This record gives sequence, structure tokens and C-alpha cells, in this order.
Amino acid sequence: MKIEQAVRLGRYTTLGAGGEARAFAKPSTAHEVEEALAWAHERELPIVTIGLGSNLLVADDGVEALVLRLGGELAAAEIRGNLLVAGGGAANAACLHRVRDAGLGGFEFACAIPGTTGGGVRMNAGAYGSDWSQILVRALVVDEHGARWLKPAELGLSYRQSKLDPRQVVARVELRLERRDPGEIKAKVAELQALRKAAQPTNKRTFGSVFKNPDHELTAGLMLEACGLKGHRIGGAQISPRHANFIENADGARASDAVALMAEARRRAHEEYGVELEHEVQFVGPLVLPPLGS
Ligand SMILES: Cc1cc2nc3c(=O)[nH]c(=O)nc-3n(C[C@H](O)[C@H](O)[C@H](O)COP(=O)(O)OP(=O)(O)OC[C@H]3O[C@@H](n4cnc5c(N)ncnc54)[C@H](O)[C@@H]3O)c2cc1C
Repeated sequence: MKIEQAVRLGRYTTLGAGGEARAFAKPSTAHEVEEALAWAHERELPIVTIGLGSNLLVADDGVEALVLRLGGELAAAEIRGNLLVAGGGAANAACLHRVRDAGLGGFEFACAIPGTTGGGVRMNAGAYGSDWSQILVRALVVDEHGARWLKPAELGLSYRQSKLDPRQVVARVELRLERRDPGEIKAKVAELQALRKAAQPTNKRTFGSVFKNPDHELTAGLMLEACGLKGHRIGGAQISPRHANFIENADGARASDAVALMAEARRRAHEEYGVELEHEVQFVGPLVLPPLGS
């Protein structure tokens, strides 16, 4: 497995911004993941595993880490009975095609989530009332101690998070689905995609939801909209005029532009509603939001 130096990460993210990874590798087997972890361990380099970069904000200065992007058999998927058995780097879209053709339903909600099955486990991704925790049978997690299968309870899946730490790589995933007519699946996917298109900036470069929904009657999006932030722009980044919990790359956005927008959004939500918004997007590299009240 080749380890590359100074690879620009922006091109591996849906936002399209961010600096370089000190080192970058594409392991294609669980054994290669172990080798990569050992390589990083020897050099005391942290690990960052990325999927399709659909929930990532990468620092403009890049990241001093070995970044892994799963490929080969770790990005493939197959059907075994009622199970989807996929590599952690398999794209949800490709998995959805596969399960639909096999007449397996229950994964339709993922049509709205442009990531991988491994990223889905790490984030407990979800939409329309379903999430990974409801269909995950087990995940093969590789870390410095080797590879082991973990069940949902061991992964600690809850609202848009898991207990996985950055040195743990989700190499494989098994999802339990149920028999359903492919035509019915297709119709459901079309319905969900139309809902998405009507409510969110699906034709813009974004990293999905910026903040988790707070414990409040308003969602993060509605709260930021009520703060008058729709369309607010800093540098090349803009709070989506369509949905205020999205930041669009309007024109050559830098990560620092997005962070400045996030800081302003948090400040306003705190001032107006006393709510401390927690970011859902995952930071890669030295990015921090200023503390509230500073
Ligand atoms: C337009 C749009 C709409 C979206 N809608 C939704 C939605 O409805 N619901 C939702 O939940 N999310 C949504 N997202 C966010 C995103 O798609 C999900 O969080 C997705 O699960 C991230 O998967 P990914 O493979 O792209 O992971 P990345 O964004 O690359 O990484 C996300 C996190 O997972 C970790 N990670 C990735 N792969 C692995 C792995 N194999 N092993 C260990 N850790 C890993 C990364 O280190 C990082 O911490 C949306 C994003 C966009 C751009």
C-alpha cells in the first residue's frame, strides 16, 4: 500500500475546501488498515479516516495526520440473504442500488445521505425517522489491537454520534434489511429525494447539517432562520438561503470562512434563545470555534 505525502484533502470533501494531509493512504483490506495504523503509530501521527467527506470541514492549514480512505474490497458491497455486507468505504448510493435490485428494503432513508457505510456508523447517520442503529447488525472495527466485530450497543450509537474514537476504523458493516418489492423501494426513494430537493440546497457544495438539532422546540435550521441568518455570507461561504442549517461554498470558500459563519450562528442562537448549538460537522485539523460569551 502506497503512502502519499501532502495530499490536498479539499477534493475529497463535498464542501471542496481545506488543506493537505501530511500523509494519505488507501487501504483495500483490513490487513492493510492494520499496516497503516502501525505505520502511523511508529511516527506518532494521529489517524483520520474519511469516507466521502460529506460531513467534514478540513482546516485550511491541513492536518498533521495519516488520512485513510478505504478502497478495494473495503469499498465493495454484496448481498447475503437479508444482509447487506459492505466495506466501510462503500458509498451509500451504490449500496442502495444493490439492495433495491435484490428486493431488500429498509435502507431507503440513506438516499438522502451522501456518505459511506463506515461514515454512517461513525455518525449514526439518519434521516426521516431511521438511522444506522436501527439496521446495523455489527461492524468490523480495526484499531491498534487488531480487528473485531462490534454490535450497535458496543459502538454506543446515539443521535449523530458513536463512541468510536479516531484511531478506530470501520472496515466492514453488516446491515439487516427486509424483503420489499424493488418498485416500492424505487417509489419511496423518489419521494424522499423530492422532499430533500424541496427543503435543502441539494445542488450546492455543502457538508450537510452544520449543527445538531438542539433540545428546543425549534430545529437548528429554524432557529438560525429566525435569527435572520439565511443568505449571510463571510468570504466565499454562505448560510444557505434555502435552509439555514447548511453552509454553501458560494465561491472559493475557505474553512476559515465556514468557521466564522458557524461562530456567528452560535453567537446569535445563544443571544436570542440561550441555546448552545453543538456542531454536527466533523473538524479535521486545527479548527476551533470561539467559546460563547467571548
Ligand atoms: C447534502 C447533504 C445531505 C446530508 N444529509 C444527511 C442526513 O440526512 N442525515 C445524516 O445523518 N447526515 C447527512 N449528511 C452528512 C453526511 O452525509 C453523513 O454524516 C455521512 O454519514 C458521512 O459519511 P462520510 O462517509 O461522507 O463520512 P465523512 O464525512 O468522510 O466523515 C464523517 C466522520 O466519520 C468518520 N469516518 C468516516 N468513515 C469512517 C470509517 N470507515 N471508519 C471510522 N470513521 C469514519 C470521519 O473521521 C468523520 O469523523 C448530509 C451531507 C450532505 C452533504
